[in-house]
Amino acid sequence: LHRNPGETEFHQAVTEVLEALEPVVDRHPEYVEHGILRRMCEPERQIIFRVPWVDDSGEVQINRGFRVEFNSALGPYKGGLRFHPSVYLGIIKFLGFEQVYKNALTGMPIGGGKGGSDFNPAGRSDGEVMRFCQSFMTELYRHIGEYTDVPAGDVGVGAREIGYLFGQYKRLTNRFEAGVLTGKGLTWGGSLVRTEATGYGAVMFANSMLGTKGESMDGQKVLISGSGNVAIYAAAKAQSLGATVVTASDSSGYVVDEDGLDLDLLKQIKEVERGRISEYAQRRGGRSRYVEGGSVWDVPGTVAIPSATQNELDDAAARTLIKNGVKAVSEGANMPSTQKATELFLDAGILFGPGKAANAGGVATSALEMQQNASRDSWTFDYTHDRLEAIMADVHDRCMATADEYGAPGNYVVGANIAGFLKVADAMIAQGIV
Ligand code: NDP
Repeated sequence: LHRNPGETEFHQAVTEVLEALEPVVDRHPEYVEHGILRRMCEPERQIIFRVPWVDDSGEVQINRGFRVEFNSALGPYKGGLRFHPSVYLGIIKFLGFEQVYKNALTGMPIGGGKGGSDFNPAGRSDGEVMRFCQSFMTELYRHIGEYTDVPAGDVGVGAREIGYLFGQYKRLTNRFEAGVLTGKGLTWGGSLVRTEATGYGAVMFANSMLGTKGESMDGQKVLISGSGNVAIYAAAKAQSLGATVVTASDSSGYVVDEDGLDLDLLKQIKEVERGRISEYAQRRGGRSRYVEGGSVWDVPGTVAIPSATQNELDDAAARTLIKNGVKAVSEGANMPSTQKATELFLDAGILFGPGKAANAGGVATSALEMQQNASRDSWTFDYTHDRLEAIMADVHDRCMATADEYGAPGNYVVGANIAGFLKVADAMIAQGIV
């Protein structure tokens, strides 16, 4: 920890993984002998760069860009780009570290990395976002490539930003290298189901967990936080499986809609108008209420799918959820539960799907996009959806089997961390001390 001062989110992510790995280290001293744990905590490469651009009033703005190429034992670095004012090295490193094990769990041939910037897209015009993306890519392009490092979207980086980034990459390299970015538009190398994949996958994972108790998503009352890409499609999948989704939120507050969210209205406000969640309640004609600030986890429900950001669900929220009878928590976001909250869920016997397993559907479908690009093919929605469903079922079953094998039945945190780790560690040993 002393080598990475002040990187609190990175410390948190590493601590969780190392604690889960204790039984593995006891059984397999060779991992210690090969320095695997210490090597895994040190990214292979970290790039930090200046991103200068000119805003609409003609003023020069300076942001900081990051790309942390964490581990390439299983394939090219793969992971999203986050544009949010809270971004600093500690956030990118935590996300990159988690990504390594998540990607391993998917069974796809991809390493782990993450990047982004402290740029805040909120309130910026399309022209400003484009100029920022072009400047960002003007440095990033020399570090990425279909066999090297393949970025994608994350918070603040959606279809619009991927478009601007891809356009600038193509211009700088004079190559239409579709496999260099994922999350592309459907007419220029994108994959069907990629937009929906993370949210869909988190609900599929919840459904599988509930299945172990003879239940399903059907009839559940679902709490979702966030109202971005993951939240919207988690809500869509949950409703299609017969659940009622009663909440959504943003960083200003949350809405409660006991009838179940009106997804068309939510998409119109968030995807088309880029508006705030408060507008949802205003336009729902009295059938929904908006709560400024507060905690979405105060609302009673049986399944929780945190889909906003890291550490949004703390121990107080976990206690409230448990008291209100929550049965399953499936993390759509990355590390949304604090360590204490996670422990409370596990101690209470709640079905708890950690992000690196439950939200792996997004990156898995990105890997399917890479496959389609490599074969210059594009698959149908149904075929791609079936592949996603099979991958999520496999991730669930592998986590469960690994937890059993290492003496922690039902503990998906232990299962996910160990199953992901073993795959990466064995590949690292085979490839020598590099
Ligand atoms: P979006 O940018 O589409 O949406 C993010 C949502 O979370 C918004 O509603 C936003 O509200 C809210 N939010 C973001 N930061 C904060 C904050 N500091 N406090 C409170 N609310 C916040 O992002 P995604 O939906 O893509 O990502 C959500 C989470 O899922 C992230 O943890 C991401 O890493 C993870 N994830 C995403 C994947 C994907 O495929 N998109 C894949 C795997 C994981 P506001 O507008 O007010 O900021």
